[in-house]
Amino acid sequence: MTDTAGTTTLIAGCGVSGRAAARLAARLGIPFALLDEQDNDSLHAFADSLPKPPDAVYFGFRVQDELPAFERVVLSPGFRAGNPVRAKLAASSACLMGELEFALGSCGKPFVGITGTNGKTTTTELTAELFRAAGIRACACGNNGYAMSDAAIDCLDGKLDLPVVEISSFQLELMPVPHPVAAAVLNIASDHIDRHGSMEAYAAAKFKLLGDPSAACVLNALIRERFHPAGSGQKLYTFSAGLPADFTARNGELTFRGRAIVPVDSLALKGVHNLENALASLALLASVQGEDAVFSPAVTGALAKFESGPHRLERFLTANGVQYINDSKATNPHAVNAALAAVGGDRNVVILLGGLDKAMDFEELAPSLRHLKHAVVFGSCGQKIAGYLEKNAVPFSMCGTFPEAVGKAVSCAVPGDVVLLSPATASMDMFRDYRDRGDQFKDLCRKFALPEDASMEQTAK
Ligand code: ADP
Repeated sequence: MTDTAGTTTLIAGCGVSGRAAARLAARLGIPFALLDEQDNDSLHAFADSLPKPPDAVYFGFRVQDELPAFERVVLSPGFRAGNPVRAKLAASSACLMGELEFALGSCGKPFVGITGTNGKTTTTELTAELFRAAGIRACACGNNGYAMSDAAIDCLDGKLDLPVVEISSFQLELMPVPHPVAAAVLNIASDHIDRHGSMEAYAAAKFKLLGDPSAACVLNALIRERFHPAGSGQKLYTFSAGLPADFTARNGELTFRGRAIVPVDSLALKGVHNLENALASLALLASVQGEDAVFSPAVTGALAKFESGPHRLERFLTANGVQYINDSKATNPHAVNAALAAVGGDRNVVILLGGLDKAMDFEELAPSLRHLKHAVVFGSCGQKIAGYLEKNAVPFSMCGTFPEAVGKAVSCAVPGDVVLLSPATASMDMFRDYRDRGDQFKDLCRKFALPEDASMEQTAK
């Protein structure tokens, strides 16, 4: 091992993305080693299952253990800043990279990149769908269980031609300027400021995706002037549901420079924010396939049918005239505003707010307050949210547990109201992740809002 260590890729962290990187290294046939702080049967079984075995394994690794120098280290996000093993790896390797950078550099195909505060997953999946409808072998990857390294393997095996990649600000911050064929920045609002330090630093990380002058840019018209230096000679399409833009919504149609593409009311996607996601996807398609592609019936048909995934404005129950909506994926105020713009009327929403703060600015909720009948506040940043609601005279209740919070919300709603979990925060103070939070919410709503028999029936479905 020590002989080849200097030319070996070390994959540090064998979680989901690390394992995908290891499969890719094995597929590439390059020398590689695996490292993990854990040591268990599952890790050894994984190492044994690879088509080319690793040149070395360092399982159960401790910071004091010996480690040779490596050509590059593919570092799992599990090694957070401050982790001593991460510091040791950084000191001993000239090149530290994330799984995404490793995979993008190895796939040998063009890719489309998508970032933004909200709408990344929805837009990435929709964009891939539109490219497939246009006859391109495209697939959404990055954050949906299909790691970019696995997509790279499929590219190398001739099964995939265009990865459509969701990219977060964390990933962008750590990588050099990427080289997508086309890239979109969907929107920028307060989120992850704890990690990036300021809105400017957060926006700069997002705009790195547009840093290659030969990449076609797709940009929300609202943020173009605020953050992005215009006039670089780059191919650019703007989009907006409300402002003048290349791709916009006008007279009940999605349009490209005044030409109708598809009627808004034919879309399964709901809400102005989703119109913007659809416009961004169309703009990405036009950037790569040419503008005529967006008018093809196959493309408009695929667009009309597309629905966003669970935990995003998911209408899962109507009981006693009250509609129940799970928007657990709304982890910042901007997403909450989008939800309330889509489902809010005049003070008809009982909202559940709270969770883990990311140094976010709850003042951003201002446009939504007119829709709120009552707010039920829970979780570790409850006091901060309560302070904001109190200042703005929004009636609210503080609850110590999530079941108590859901029970309170159900009891506040009358026929015609909406009970909405759109918490504006991360979930990890009380839940495994946003899915767990959304699933618990749905179960509790059924339990509190339905008579026992009906609840059993719903659960069985
Ligand atoms: P991301 O991957 O960026 O988190 P998702 O598509 O998973 O985005 O949606 C996350 C949350 O943001 C959901 O609550 C969804 O309703 C909301 N959302 C989706 N698109 C937008 C948008 N363009 N603007 C604001 N909120 C949005």
